[in-house]
Amino acid sequence: MPTATFTGTCPECETDLTVPPIVQGETLSCPECMLTLRVEEVQEGRLSLQMVEVQLRDWGQ
Ligand SMILES: [Zn+2]
Repeated sequence: MPTATFTGTCPECETDLTVPPIVQGETLSCPECMLTLRVEEVQEGRLSLQMVEVQLRDWGQ
């Protein structure tokens, strides 16, 4: 039976994340630490997540 969600672990705060199926290269936000995470790899419903350095240009102040 196929899983309807993917799971992963936040590399920063180690929160277990459950998300709708997404594909490699997409990003999501960790609800705990609010970091932006990018999907590096999807393997059998498990996500490899990597922190994205978000540069907020022209949005200062
Ligand atoms: Zn987190």
